[in-house]
Amino acid sequence: MCFSSCGLPEKLVLNLEAAGYVMPTPVQMQVIPASMRNRSLLVSADTGSGKTASFLVPIIAHCSRVRQHKCTDKREPLAIVLAPTRELCLQVEEQAKVLGKGLPFKTALVVGGDPLAQQIYRIENGVELIVGTPGRLIDLLMKHNVDLNNVDVFVLDEVDCLLERGFRDQAMQIFQAFSHPQVMMFSATLNSEVEKMSKSLANNMIHISC
Ligand code: AMP
Repeated sequence: MCFSSCGLPEKLVLNLEAAGYVMPTPVQMQVIPASMRNRSLLVSADTGSGKTASFLVPIIAHCSRVRQHKCTDKREPLAIVLAPTRELCLQVEEQAKVLGKGLPFKTALVVGGDPLAQQIYRIENGVELIVGTPGRLIDLLMKHNVDLNNVDVFVLDEVDCLLERGFRDQAMQIFQAFSHPQVMMFSATLNSEVEKMSKSLANNMIHISC
C-alpha cells in the first residue's frame, strides 16, 4: 500500500510527501484503509508508530469530501480527537494543520489553560476538527458554545491514559452528543478497562495491533 493508492485527495498526498511521509508505517497501512471504509477501530499502537497520522489522514480525507459536496455556510465540527494532555493535543493539532494545509480543513484546539473566548471564537468561525482534552470540551458543550450534532468521527487517543486520569465519564458524556459516529480508539496497552470502554462505544470494532 502507498498513500496515493488509498483514494485520498491529491493535495493530501502532496502534503504527506512534503512532510517526508514517503511510505505509510505499519499502523497506517492497517488503520487508513479500514477507517476509509468507516469501520470503528481499537488500535494498540505506541507513540512513535505513526498513529497520529493514521487517524488524521482519514479524518482530513473525510472532511474535505464532505465540505466539497455540501456547500453550507455553517461549518460545524465533523470530527473530534480527545487526548489526555494539553501537550499531546498540541502535537496532534500541529500535525493536523500540516497535513490539512490547502484543503477545506480547519482545526480548533480546546484545552484548559488557554483563554476560553479565543477557542469559542475559532469554533464560531467554522472548523472541521476539534482536538481537545475532555474537561474543556465538556465546558464548551455545557455552555452551548459548540454544536456536535454533525460529528461523525470520534477519536480517543491514548485511551489508557485517558482512563487512568479519570476521564471515562467525561468522554462518554461527549460521545452522547453524537449520533452514530465512527469511533477510533488508540492505546499503548489493551487492558480490561480499555476493552470495556470500546464495547460501550461501538459494536463490531476491528482490533488492530502493531
Ligand atoms: P506518532 O507515533 O504519531 O507520534 O508519530 C511519530 C513520528 O513519526 C512523528 O514525528 C511523525 O511526524 C512521523 N511519521 C508519521 N508517519 C510517518 C510516515 N509515514 N513516514 C515518516 N514519518 C512519519
